[in-house]
Parts: sequence; C-alpha cells; structure tokens
Amino acid sequence: MLYYYLILFFIFGLIVGSFLSVVVSRLETGESILGGRSQCPKCKKKIRSYDLVPLLSFVVLKGRCRYCEKKISLFYPLIELATGILFALLLYRFSDIFTGANLYLFFGLHLIILASLVAIFFYDCFYYIIPDKVLVPAGLTTLVLAIINVLLAKRFQLDFFIYQPEIWNLVLGIIIGGGFFLLLVLISKERWMGWGDVKLGVFLGLFLGYPSILVALFFAFILGSIYSVVLLLSKKKKMKDAVPFGPFLVLGGLIALFAGKFIVSWYLGV
Ligand SMILES: [Zn+2]
Repeated sequence: MLYYYLILFFIFGLIVGSFLSVVVSRLETGESILGGRSQCPKCKKKIRSYDLVPLLSFVVLKGRCRYCEKKISLFYPLIELATGILFALLLYRFSDIFTGANLYLFFGLHLIILASLVAIFFYDCFYYIIPDKVLVPAGLTTLVLAIINVLLAKRFQLDFFIYQPEIWNLVLGIIIGGGFFLLLVLISKERWMGWGDVKLGVFLGLFLGYPSILVALFFAFILGSIYSVVLLLSKKKKMKDAVPFGPFLVLGGLIALFAGKFIVSWYLGV
C-alpha cells in the first residue's frame, strides 16, 4: 500500500515541480504566474498542453522544442524530478510517525515548505536572490503552525514538528539560524553573505529548531566549501567571485530534515 502512495506523492511532486518552474522563470521577469500559457523562449510559439506533461514531455521531445528544435533547458525536468523525489521521500521517511489529523497537518505543512525550498534553491542558483515572495509565505505558514503547535499541542494532541515540541527549541533555532548570518553580513559588509541568507537562516531556524539547525548549518558550509574548492581548482571562478549560499543552506536544511535526528543522536553518542 505504501508503494502506491509513494508513486502518488511522486507524481504530485512532478506536477507541483512543473508549477514551481513557472514561478521561478516568471517571478524575475514580472510575468503573471497564473495567466498565459508558456512559450518557447526562442521561436515564441505557445507550448501545446500535451507538451506540458511534467518530465514525460521532456523525454518524448528528447529535450528539444517541437517547432524550432532548440534545446529545452535541463532546469525544467530537474526541478520537476527534485520536487517529485522530495515529496516521495517525505512520505517514505515519516509515514509511520504521524497518524490521524496529525498526518494531514504534517504532510500539508511539509509539502508547502519542501516546495518553497525547491523554488528558493533554483531561484538563488539563477538570480543570486532569495525571493521574499516565496520566503515570506513559507515562513508565515511555519510560524502560524508553530504557534498552534506550541499553544495547543497538549490540549488537542497535535504535534507536527518532528524534533522540537518546546518553544525554546524554536526560539534558539531562530537565534542561531538568523544570528549567525547576521554576524557574517555585518562583519563582511554583505560581501560574504546577503540579507536573503539571514532571512533564510531565520526561516530554517523556525522550521528545524535547535539542535537540527546546527546540522543544517554544518552541512551547508561543508557542501559550500567543497563546491567552491572544485570551482577554484577547475578555474571556473576566481577567489573574489560571488557564489550564492542559499542553495547550500537549502541542501543543509533538507539533510537536517531527513537525517537530523540520526546525526544528532549519533554525535551525542546516544
Ligand atoms: Zn521553439
């Protein structure tokens, strides 16, 4: 039965990913996200609805426009696949922990947050900006549910945070996640990190809480360092070139979400 739902979540993720690709490609150009069918960036022909099937269309068309044969960016199948895999992974990892009303609340909340993280990842890769239009709604959703969770958890047996049922875990998470990047921004005068990283740090701190936020920061810096060294060695970038940090923070956050509990208990030796 689980496999049936895993496939369902994966397909749902593909569809959401397809929507996210529109959000990411249109937010910066200011086009309406809901209105107007997508068009080929080269020949401007409207893309037919049967060519908009997530992932499948890309494979069938062999990654080229049906009309002008220009290569379609790998970004589209990648963002769809990433969302599909994350949605299925969420179900696989947490389906046995939550039951009843908590199950729906937990998955509802976390699917929104995962989708936001995917959008932030690709957006920051392309434009070196972490968009408030994605970050603020995701942060507010988490905040509202955190308040409900902290205030009403005991009364209604609601509990949809994985690791930190207490308020101090969340407050400490925000202080560490936001404060750390705030320091880096102030010290470097925005050369190492931007205000977007501070906001993303606050959001992840609220979402993951303490101590999981430490796992996220740790892996973000490990992965970011490896990537920078590879770029420097391959001479693709110079020391002073900017590398967006948001994508690594997102990856660190995902590692903390899916494996944080294991990593923390392994580290503490319990
Ligand atoms: Zn075309």
